[in-house]
Amino acid sequence: MTEQKDTLLTRPSWIEIDLGAIQENAQSIMAHAGAKRLIAVVKADGYGHGATPVANALYEIGVRDFAVATIGEGIKLRQELAYQDYRIVLLGVQDIAHVDVMVKYRLSPAIESIDWLSVALQAIPEGATLDVELAVDTGMGRMGAHSKEAVYSVYRYIKNNDKLELGGVFTHFATADDSNIGYYKQQAQRFNDWVTAAGIPRQYWHLANSGSALWHTQEIDTRTIRVGSVLYGYNPGAPLLTLPIPLKHVFALKSRIGAVHQLITGESVSYGATYTAQKPQWVATLPIGYADGYLRRMAGMRVLINGKVTYVIGRITMDQIVIALDQAYPIGTEVTLIGRDGDNEITVEEFADYANTIPHEILTSFGPRLPRIYKK
Ligand SMILES: *Cc1c(COP(=O)(O)O)cnc(C)c1O
Repeated sequence: MTEQKDTLLTRPSWIEIDLGAIQENAQSIMAHAGAKRLIAVVKADGYGHGATPVANALYEIGVRDFAVATIGEGIKLRQELAYQDYRIVLLGVQDIAHVDVMVKYRLSPAIESIDWLSVALQAIPEGATLDVELAVDTGMGRMGAHSKEAVYSVYRYIKNNDKLELGGVFTHFATADDSNIGYYKQQAQRFNDWVTAAGIPRQYWHLANSGSALWHTQEIDTRTIRVGSVLYGYNPGAPLLTLPIPLKHVFALKSRIGAVHQLITGESVSYGATYTAQKPQWVATLPIGYADGYLRRMAGMRVLINGKVTYVIGRITMDQIVIALDQAYPIGTEVTLIGRDGDNEITVEEFADYANTIPHEILTSFGPRLPRIYKK
């Protein structure tokens, strides 16, 4: 925390994360989906929020399963979390060369084939076990056993091997957060058929990503849910679908005015001189730019100052942006780039929409130069 504060003081642009809101969102989505267990997806550094503080906050409310994408993310979490009695699932395809590391740090890889497992066995020391998650590809096309027979034979192989432990069986939906119900139902049906035929008990099943836990609780088993987006408080189906439950906003992006100037009529701002003052115009410079994840295509975006709306003018540069002012403001005045200020709010969804992308991409693009400040 001290280190964060020092960094903040030297360059006043930062991210605020509300960990209490993450805890509340976890509880809300479990209640809504009727879930007994939650696997918290904290890949990509907790969708940009900081995997370790997020996982610690969720541990406090009883979460004991976390999911990341890479071995590196898994090791970091294992080393940094204050507790030890929890699982770490690796969601992506993993290089067979690093099975020893997975055993050492007790990481549970998603696996899809007997080929992979048979090579893995040679790297598991006597007396040790590798906890694995059986991935089933029902239509996402990224990874997983891809037929009834494949699911059956991989499951048998795990059961018949002392060095292998089954942690879970899962699939991932391609269309949980859009209106393509037909494709969703086909995936759900395949999982149900294949996994039931293999005889894998229900306690191992986890299918629901955020979209499923929000909008498909009737179509699939939701006793265990495996979610990311909803924890971080945004709508993965925006703008097409509306949320069935309220989620608390978690993320805010803020900066402070570093310099204030008055342009005279005809003067311009930033590279390319794309913005020109039509009358005497107060402007302020903020110490944040596209190298921080305030993307170049955010030129013209809304920002909030003293609860009022104003705009980014001219081009976004690597480290600085310029905003229009209605009057001179003191150096150090706080500006909200994402979040609430008085009656106005800029949501992550609005920000992403302006950038022509989805909130996931925006949140994972904010760089390490921006300190994360945590509150509860
Ligand atoms: C990223 C990911 C999730 C979480 O998805 P959300 O839509 O953010 O809830 C769940 N499962 C898998 C396999 C993933 O890759």
